Amino acid sequence: MYTSETHQLMSKLASEGQFLSLSRRSPELFTSEKKPLEFTLSNGTLVHIAGPGIIAFTPENKGDKAIILSCGIHGNETAPIEICDQYVVDILTCKLVLGHRVLFIFGNLPAMDKATRFVDENLNRLFSQAHNSASVNQNGYECKRAKELEVAVAQFFNASLSNKAQSSNTSRQNDETRYHYDLHTAIRPSKNEKFAVYPYLHGESHSKEQLSFLLACGVDTFLLSGSSTTTFSYYSSRQFNAHAFTVELGKVQPFGQNDMSRFAAVTETMKRFICGQTIEAKPFENKDMLIYKVNQVINKHADDFVLEFSDDLPNFSTFEKGALLARETGAEYRAQYDGEAVVFPNANVAIGQRAILTVIPTTLV
Ligand SMILES: [Zn+2]
Repeated sequence: MYTSETHQLMSKLASEGQFLSLSRRSPELFTSEKKPLEFTLSNGTLVHIAGPGIIAFTPENKGDKAIILSCGIHGNETAPIEICDQYVVDILTCKLVLGHRVLFIFGNLPAMDKATRFVDENLNRLFSQAHNSASVNQNGYECKRAKELEVAVAQFFNASLSNKAQSSNTSRQNDETRYHYDLHTAIRPSKNEKFAVYPYLHGESHSKEQLSFLLACGVDTFLLSGSSTTTFSYYSSRQFNAHAFTVELGKVQPFGQNDMSRFAAVTETMKRFICGQTIEAKPFENKDMLIYKVNQVINKHADDFVLEFSDDLPNFSTFEKGALLARETGAEYRAQYDGEAVVFPNANVAIGQRAILTVIPTTLV
């Protein structure tokens, strides 16, 4: 049974919808013995709060999709946080009725307050058990949070397996298709403002339907990852066979300073998607998008590693074959193809870490 304070909290959430601001201001409301918190909205939607910043909804008439929208995995990437916050407010106050089960995750709550990317370390490098590695601060906020988020994702994606709502057809296994869009904004500018990283699929084929959907969201550039990583989207892709993407929606701005018109396509299209409405997506054609695959992973081996281009070079800037990209004692790194582009360059990483990724155009057959 819930206490009267908890009942008050639930009716406050249903009347005002301020789940994110309560999670940031008073995370203790959603932890300890009060976890998880479950209640039903007046339109029959079941609300399940697994912890601060982690809220799932099951509409009365749910479709065949299980969708995760995560944001704020980096605390200062405000635009996706504002977009998801608005969805959650509208769902809690019954302005928006979902068509599928949806889990919203607001990742790094303390970093949001500090307006920083993270508190102790990069949360988006700690998934798939990386939070248990000896090289990370296991007592830091992000390691604990990565663990908590992995559990929330697993519970959400596995929920329909044990869901008695399907008892009318008990022979059915989990027949939901799973999706996870991890929404970010980038630190550096990008020649292609909105792009998505498609996690490594271990030989499985890429979903053209998903690329078409993301194109309808305004994302026209895709980077096909070529190896296992410890990102959040790779975790959902690998562990739960979800259609999962790290989606970069533009450049980092402080809270309240985003030009939300730049996010209109993604906000509207994603809203239609979670509400189970039809989406006007063009059938897939390679010519409508830029698709890249990884060519070189350049790691830093010496302290004197330097980039041979300006620090604020936009992501996806291209080079001619043979152009010098970076050097360090004992090595020079050059473009191997005309049109080879650099993404996420960073000379200030630790020795042994990735300093530059280079990509070359490819197409899907
Ligand atoms: Zn980010």
